[in-house]
Amino acid sequence: MSGQIPAALRRLVFERAAGLCEYCLIHQSDAHFTFPVDHIISRKHQGATKAANLALACLRCNVTKGTDVGALIGRPRRLSRLYHPRKDDWRAHFHLAGARIVPVSDVGEATVRLLDLNARDRLMLRRALARAGRYPSLEALAYLRG
Ligand SMILES: [Zn+2]
Repeated sequence: MSGQIPAALRRLVFERAAGLCEYCLIHQSDAHFTFPVDHIISRKHQGATKAANLALACLRCNVTKGTDVGALIGRPRRLSRLYHPRKDDWRAHFHLAGARIVPVSDVGEATVRLLDLNARDRLMLRRALARAGRYPSLEALAYLRG
C-alpha cells in the first residue's frame, strides 16, 4: 500500500513508469482508479520510501501484492521472491501471449500467482483493451523496449 508519498516522488514514479502498472502493464488512462505507488519491498519488511523501492502499480496489483515479497511455487514447494520493477527486466520474467501474462522464470511464476495477474476478469479487461489497440499500449511497448 502506498500511504503518504510526497507529491514530487509520486510524480517521479508516475513519469518513470510512463503511467503504466509496472506489473501488469495496464495504463492509468485505462483504469478507473488512480494508481497507487507500490513499495516493492513493503514497509513491513523495512522497505524505504525512496525512488529505488517504489513502482507504479494498478490498484489490483497493489492490493493483491499487499506486503508480500515472495510466494511459494512448484512441487515440491519452494520460495521465490517477487518481480522487482527497479532491478529486474520485465521481459526476463514474463512474456505476453495476447493478453495473457506468461511467466518465464520462477520470479515470474511467483508474481503471476501471487498477484493473480491472469484472473478471469483481468484477462477479460486486457482482451477488451487489446481489441481496442490499448494492450499492450504504445507506452507499454516503449517500456518493454527499455
Ligand atoms: Zn497491475
